[in-house]
Amino acid sequence: MTNVFDRLTGQAVVADELRGAAWAARGVSARLDAGVVGAVATSTGSAPRMFDGADGATFGHPASDGDDEVFSGLSRAAMTHAWLFTGPPGSGRSVAATCFAAALQCQSDDEVGCGQCRACVTVMAQTHADVRHVVPQGLSLSVLEARDVVQAAARRPGTGRWQIVIIEDADRLTEQAANALLKAVEEPPSRTVFLLCAPSVDPEDISVTLRSRCRHIALTTPSVADIERVLVDRDGIEPDRAAWAAAVCGGHIGRAKRLATDDAARAQREQALGLARAATRDSTAYAAAEALVKSADDAAKALSAQLDEAETEEMKTALGAGGTGKGTARPPRGTAGALKELEKRQKSRATRVLRDVLDRALVDLAALFRDALVVSMGARVTPMHPDKADDITVPMAGYASPEQLLRCVEAVLECRTALDVNVKPKFAVDAMVARIGMAMRREG
Ligand SMILES: [Zn+2]
Repeated sequence: MTNVFDRLTGQAVVADELRGAAWAARGVSARLDAGVVGAVATSTGSAPRMFDGADGATFGHPASDGDDEVFSGLSRAAMTHAWLFTGPPGSGRSVAATCFAAALQCQSDDEVGCGQCRACVTVMAQTHADVRHVVPQGLSLSVLEARDVVQAAARRPGTGRWQIVIIEDADRLTEQAANALLKAVEEPPSRTVFLLCAPSVDPEDISVTLRSRCRHIALTTPSVADIERVLVDRDGIEPDRAAWAAAVCGGHIGRAKRLATDDAARAQREQALGLARAATRDSTAYAAAEALVKSADDAAKALSAQLDEAETEEMKTALGAGGTGKGTARPPRGTAGALKELEKRQKSRATRVLRDVLDRALVDLAALFRDALVVSMGARVTPMHPDKADDITVPMAGYASPEQLLRCVEAVLECRTALDVNVKPKFAVDAMVARIGMAMRREG
């Protein structure tokens, strides 16, 4: 494996910044090892916060106003205890956070994130003892989970330089969970680093105070050409197929790979896009809506079942209830409660998986109507589904007016909103096809 930052597709600026920060952090770590920092802390009588690292780089956290400007006066290689990685889904924000964690722990003398040393390999495989990945499985990350994270983060690192916590989907932190985390981020132990990932810095995604304590790394959507190159070079996908998948994936690298390699993913996309035409006729609309919900449900169930089974077994074993053979003890007290709690979490995760699968389909569908709208207005914008131009979008632009197509886009977006506020998928999707049917029948 080459340097870990080579994995960041189309994010050269981000990779440079993180590399610089990882070098700076090494200097700080060395000073911590030498006890230099301890002396500073004692002399000032306060907890260690911000220190000069190697070559004038600074390790600490931003002042209370937390604006990015705080960093402008510092070296570009400045580093802090809390980072926020933002980017649209598929831009690789959690990959970037993981690469940075590897670079911070990397044992090579010549580079950061060499990709070869034990630290790099284990961080990237998510098995490093001092790098904890927190992936909210349900609809939200609870305050109890957050406290657990904070406690683990306070430990001294075992073999690594830093105790690192990566929180994926930090937008799923509940308000109390965010507050629990905020306290730890404000007074971080000297060897602790938090790496948060969220779609954007919008207050909907991340609390303003939490965001203000973090140094912000913004990833951008990779270009079609970048994605195509990764699929060919990294995954060995045949060039024609890679070009197609890169063009229709909406800038989402993981999805591009799935579309290129997984028949089920391609079938799901076809089904979602087929709804555009099916919805215009009463005879086909509701059957198509039902089929879409059912296939999303099936996909979600299959995925959840896999995860659930392994977890339940693991917990039963941990609780001493799942062992087999002679002398297996009766389940200890509290087992039922723990299993019930696990079931609750699994149910929440199943809901989220179903929603994610459906949301993917709706995003595809909205993009299809938008493509037709672009065609009908004669705008020069790259289509999201170039492969559907001849078959669907160009003909559709021929018989539907821009107003009608716009109403279709709105119908799909309203369905997404409805799912977000817990409307039953069947009702939400039925309502959507009804709206699309109405929009298309109306005189343009
Ligand atoms: Zn390394």
